[in-house]
Amino acid sequence: MTNRLWVLGSAGWMPAAGCETSCLLVELDDELVMLDAGTGVANLALASEALERHDHLSIVLSHYHLDHVVGLMYLKRFVANMRVDVYGPGIPVYPRSTADYVSDLLQDALYSAGSEGFAREVRYHDYAGRDFYVGNVKVAVRPQRHSAPSFELRLADAVTYATDTTFSPAVWGAPAPTKVLLHECWQVGDGDPRHTSIEALVAGLPTDRFERTLLVHQNPEWDETARTEVARIAERHGMELARDGMVLPL
Ligand SMILES: [Zn+2]
Ligand SMILES: [Zn+2]
Repeated sequence: MTNRLWVLGSAGWMPAAGCETSCLLVELDDELVMLDAGTGVANLALASEALERHDHLSIVLSHYHLDHVVGLMYLKRFVANMRVDVYGPGIPVYPRSTADYVSDLLQDALYSAGSEGFAREVRYHDYAGRDFYVGNVKVAVRPQRHSAPSFELRLADAVTYATDTTFSPAVWGAPAPTKVLLHECWQVGDGDPRHTSIEALVAGLPTDRFERTLLVHQNPEWDETARTEVARIAERHGMELARDGMVLPL
């Protein structure tokens, strides 16, 4: 089986044309893992052959902001016959469990299938700031700086996903290399201290530790000129803007 990553949602906050919110799908060592479940879940049809190969999906959430979880509501269309495990930070990082937060989101008045009815079997887990395993795949988590507790997620030596965080080289340190890094890039210039600018990444991101560095959680307010400018700066420094529908070998 080929190990692969699908970019299903490369925006933050709200979808823009062709740019859904945070969602990646990874097929790695016989496991199918989704990182965040924003509106990009709607793009799962792009990975239909992967869905056909598996009867189990693990979903790992970096945090519970809506642009990272609202797509749970679309899952039934794609995974109705699968078993699904959903992992979120939960207790004691947050005052309530992952099951509680998703139950609130998928409550009867808002969504008819409910938080346990969108797949054949749905289970919820709190990773509680600790590394864990999905099958043979190690999921390493690291706390980030954001407006609510969020976590960098790392799948074995294949994928590092760091979104909804400020970036500073001192805090980020020198993590073990992975094949692909997906890091957020929310702004041009400093503005929002809860997020990362292209300038901060240029100044301090050790892109040489990764075979490919893609920028995600892009700002849907960028117009074509801003987007082109960010893409140009990124390219000069060994990074590239992710696009929905990209498929990367791992
Ligand atoms: Zn976000
Ligand atoms: Zn957030």
